Amino acid sequence: MRKPFVAGNWKMNKTAEEARSLVVEMLPELQKLESVERVICPPFTAIMPVSAVLAGTGIGLGAQNLHWEGSGAYTGEISAAMVKEFCKYVILGHSERRAMFGETDITVNKKVKTTLSNMLVPIVCVGETLAEFEAQKTTEVVTRQMLEGLQGLTPEEGARIVIAYEPVWAIGTGKAASGEGANRVISESIRQPLEKLFNQAVAQGVRVLYGGSVNAANAAEFFGQTEIDGALVGGASLKVADFLTIVKAAVK
Ligand code: PEP
Repeated sequence: MRKPFVAGNWKMNKTAEEARSLVVEMLPELQKLESVERVICPPFTAIMPVSAVLAGTGIGLGAQNLHWEGSGAYTGEISAAMVKEFCKYVILGHSERRAMFGETDITVNKKVKTTLSNMLVPIVCVGETLAEFEAQKTTEVVTRQMLEGLQGLTPEEGARIVIAYEPVWAIGTGKAASGEGANRVISESIRQPLEKLFNQAVAQGVRVLYGGSVNAANAAEFFGQTEIDGALVGGASLKVADFLTIVKAAVK
């Protein structure tokens, strides 16, 4: 029922020209995998050249952040209208932004609302830190991030969101969660809050991705889980062969 979804988060990697050539290299194979919703999220400066390559291919383009205000004196920020000229998706609340750039559930919530009112698709990231995991606070933390980050939305808006469960201790560390462990967190701390916020149909219809050291070797383990609909991929999305293997593993 839920279409598989794989997004590559290129973070602060690749100049505009490097990004353009990387996407040109992966395009012929990536384009064939139509049964998976495929999204590339390059840095802002690469969005324009990458959008020219992706036009008409069926592969989506996403930004890695935006500001909740429409315009004005916000030096260094990018608005939803600016993102929307080129992109359909935007990653929000990534743990690197929460940890290094002061994002909170409150700012994530503002960004989610702006994103949805501009008819963009938010990919909302949630996940516990290593300290929270070790203190067995995963359920509490992820449930709070869901309820506060998505509060005040209508069920129609809730249905347009994609969630990425990304345990912070698994991001960029090479230590992925287990498929079963991630599946349990998604069921208890993501789908249950979605039902509480919206309704059962929304909770069952929203795509939930796993993210955190997904690679060509472990992707199938995640995609074989009942509650996991795809992946948000960091490091491995910069390697053409690895990213293609991950997307192929998501084909149902
Ligand atoms: C990410 O940045 O969202 C991510 C999951 O990174 P990595 O795949 O490199 O762990």
